Amino acid sequence: MSDCIFCKIVKGEIPSEKIYEDEYTFAFLDIHPNNLGHTLVVTKDHFENIYTTPDEEFCRLMLTVKKMATAIKHGLDADGINIVMNNEKAGGQDVFHTHIHVIPRFSNDGGYHGRHLIYKEGESKAVSAKIKKELEK
Ligand code: 5GP
Ligand code: ZN
Repeated sequence: MSDCIFCKIVKGEIPSEKIYEDEYTFAFLDIHPNNLGHTLVVTKDHFENIYTTPDEEFCRLMLTVKKMATAIKHGLDADGINIVMNNEKAGGQDVFHTHIHVIPRFSNDGGYHGRHLIYKEGESKAVSAKIKKELEK
């Protein structure tokens, strides 16, 4: 899809703080994270949402979600992780390219709904480096 922002991120036409990539999936930091380290995992091919994503693609996506959840948990010393998928406008979906949110949670974070943080200069690189270090183990 030529006008899809996540297709452009996958192709490198729009910059992102990439965490991980394999043949079928791509993971990068959400630009407005609920908590620092909030990661989006997307299919490399364009599908609109859960209903239209082929089973095999969805399974591959979830394997990457699990990998990211584990790396984020250990890399950021998170107390918990939320896995979220918004589908359709009424479900809160803003970008219509299949993606899963992996959100680190901390015992004292006060909940994450409605919070959209902004990374300070250099902060996203530092956070992604911690997650990527875990993936190398
Ligand atoms: P949705 O509501 O569709 O599930 O979530 C879309 C997410 O994509 C939002 O959390 C938003 O912050 C994130 N997002 C939107 N545009 C960009 C972008 O250009 N770069 C990055 N890294 N994240 C984006
Ligand atoms: Zn797309």
